[in-house]
Amino acid sequence: MLIGAHTSSAGGPAKAIERAEKMGAQVVQVFTQSPRAWRPTPISDDQAAKCRLALCESETVERIYCHATYLINLASPEKELFKRSVECFASNLLACESITSSGLIFHPGSHRASGLQAGLVSIAQGIASAVEIASRDFGKNFRTSVLFENTAGAGDTIGRTFEDLAQLIERTESILAGKYSINFGVCIDTQHLWASGIDYSSASKVESVIAQFDSVIGLGRLKAIHLNDSKVALGSNRDRHANLGVGSIGADCLGLLIAHNAFNAADCILEVPGPNGKGPEAIDIEQARKIYSDGLKVWESNH
Ligand SMILES: [Zn+2]
Ligand SMILES: [Zn+2]
Repeated sequence: MLIGAHTSSAGGPAKAIERAEKMGAQVVQVFTQSPRAWRPTPISDDQAAKCRLALCESETVERIYCHATYLINLASPEKELFKRSVECFASNLLACESITSSGLIFHPGSHRASGLQAGLVSIAQGIASAVEIASRDFGKNFRTSVLFENTAGAGDTIGRTFEDLAQLIERTESILAGKYSINFGVCIDTQHLWASGIDYSSASKVESVIAQFDSVIGLGRLKAIHLNDSKVALGSNRDRHANLGVGSIGADCLGLLIAHNAFNAADCILEVPGPNGKGPEAIDIEQARKIYSDGLKVWESNH
C-alpha cells in the first residue's frame, strides 16, 4: 500500500510533488483549482510538463490524484448550478489529463430533495456531458479515472452507501459505453465511512464491511482510501476529520481496516488537519505507516 497525503499545489502541481517528497509521501493529492471557487486556475503547458517530469523523476512519489472542486453538484435540480457543475467538472478532468493524474476524486453531490433516483441519473448524465466536453481536447481515451467518494451522509448527499456508489458507476458506465474509454472506481474515506454509521471497530466487523463492499461494488473498484480519524461519533453524519489516533475511530481500528489484504492495491491519502492545522505533515505519514504495520501484525496473528 502506498501512503501519501493531500498537499497544497501553490506555485503549480510540480511544487506539490516536491512538498510530498519532503514529507516522505508515495502518493499525493491536490486540488486542480481553488476548491471553493468556480473559476478554473489554468495549469499552463509549462506547469503541466514540469509536473509530469517531476512525477517521472521522483524517487518517492509514484502517483498524483486530484480532488474535485467542492462547489460541483451534478445532482442539483437547479439547471444553472447543474450546467456550471458540468463545466467545472470538465475543466477538472482536463487538468487531471494534463498532469497525468491517476484519479479525479469527487463527492457525488446532493439531490436537494429532488430524490435519490433523480440525483443518481443527474450525476451520471453530468459526468457523461463533462467527459464529452473534455474529450474535445484530449480525445476519447482518458488516463485519469473518476473515483466516487463515499460521503458522511449529511442531508440529501448521495454516496453514503455502497449501493449509491455502485449505482453511480453502473449508470455512468452505461451512458458512456462504447463511446469513451474512461475508468470509474471508488475512494473510501475512513472518516466518512464511520460518520455514515458503518462500524469497523473489530476484526470481524472489518471482514463484514469488506465482504459487503465486495458484493455490492467489487473490490477491483477500490482505488484510493482517504485515511482520516473522526472528530465526531459513529453515525453522526458529519464530515469532520481528526488526526490519526486522536479521534473517535482510533489507531487500532484504522489499522485493521487499511491493513486488510483486500485493500492492498489501494493508495492511501491523508487529509488530516496535521500538527499545525494546515494539513498533513511528515509526522502524520510516519504515523500512518505505523498504524498500517500494526494492523498487518494483527491480521498475521489472526491467521
Ligand atoms: Zn476525503
Ligand atoms: Zn471529508
